[in-house]
Amino acid sequence: MRRILKRMVGYSSTTTVFECRRCGTCFSSDEESCTECGTSSIAKYEF
Ligand SMILES: [Zn+2]
Repeated sequence: MRRILKRMVGYSSTTTVFECRRCGTCFSSDEESCTECGTSSIAKYEF
């Protein structure tokens, strides 16, 4: 998790990352639901 975010942060000064609260899958765009497990419980992080 921490390793994935670090890599994504390098792309720009302000990066928004979405993470599934259930399975931990990360998205770079705002998804309606997790593509892996289908839950709509998505956490949003901004850097
Ligand atoms: Zn999920």
